[in-house]
Amino acid sequence: MRLCALRGALAASERAENWVLHDPRAWLGTAFHKVLEVAAQPDATGSAIERAWATAVAERAATAATHPLDSRYSAPDRWPGYFLVRQRAISSAQRALAAGDASRHRNARRGRASTERLLLARGGRLAGRPDRFDGRIITEYKSSIPDPSWSGAAAVLDSYQRQLRLYAVIVADALGHWPAAGRIVAASGQAIDVPLARAACEAEASAALDELDGLNRRLVAAAPAESLARPSERACGLCPFQALCPAFWPWLAAKGSRGLPDTAAAGVLDRVELGQDRDLYTAYLAVRQPFLAEGLQPLILRRRIHGDLTASPRGAFWRIVAARAKPDGRLRADLSTCAFDVDDLPDIVVAGASPSFAPLLTPGN
Ligand code: SF4
Repeated sequence: MRLCALRGALAASERAENWVLHDPRAWLGTAFHKVLEVAAQPDATGSAIERAWATAVAERAATAATHPLDSRYSAPDRWPGYFLVRQRAISSAQRALAAGDASRHRNARRGRASTERLLLARGGRLAGRPDRFDGRIITEYKSSIPDPSWSGAAAVLDSYQRQLRLYAVIVADALGHWPAAGRIVAASGQAIDVPLARAACEAEASAALDELDGLNRRLVAAAPAESLARPSERACGLCPFQALCPAFWPWLAAKGSRGLPDTAAAGVLDRVELGQDRDLYTAYLAVRQPFLAEGLQPLILRRRIHGDLTASPRGAFWRIVAARAKPDGRLRADLSTCAFDVDDLPDIVVAGASPSFAPLLTPGN
């Protein structure tokens, strides 16, 4: 929200979720930590660990199957990194089990571990569900920790650390004691420790609530959505709402997507050619955007992955997100690419929300 108020407002909207492709690596991170939670129980067994993995994955796959974009991930073995993370989760849990685990029994006796509980602070205006708090350390599980060589890595790590500072305030307010430290754990097993100095965390929480007050005032005044947006490489790079955002596309037309982790492009449809298997189709799009090849571009899509846009008429405006750019400047779609006919996308209307319906601040949005 600090980088872009519109992104913060959209993150509080359930309806916007239908237009977001979620990252299966986050689901794997959740399954990973559910398995470790089971392994931490005093009566844990190897089969309980296997069951915990299977249940967590099956539940998420079932949810994905009902989502317009996530349905491409309804089979877990298509989730990027599935087999690797499964193997790591099961072997980490089995190691904890085999170690006999004094710490498991100690934690069980203490009974202080808090997992994904909704906690409130600052009079209920700050809300969060830390993935785990064992009485000392707040642990947040992430799908991945960005490669430091990527230009957007610092911004992502900063957002993770800010989230933990806000969780520290929430935990202290809700549970009555200050956490010793924070930890970010990726599905790969990579971990980063985050110091939680009280003054810095309290200041972070106050600044976030000031931002929220400002956003709420603008929502109440029915400010146009564009006026809430602050497009930039840093804000938009990993924003899941690119397809919906009215400010992103004019910005992209001027700047291009070279500085973003994924390629986004706007184009005007010339024609669609169907492949022989009736699943594959090629959309020919006229694209004019910095760093992409000018003129008609063929974009190969699959109905069962990218949806069926074959009825889209000539002249339709399309938005493509999470695509790749080939060295020759042409677009390529992969499993995470989403394509939309702009006519199918909803408009964002700021309808003068009353303050009581204004978003509650949850770390991460
Ligand atoms: S795409 Fe960029 S400008 Fe639009 S909501 Fe996301 S961060 Fe904000």
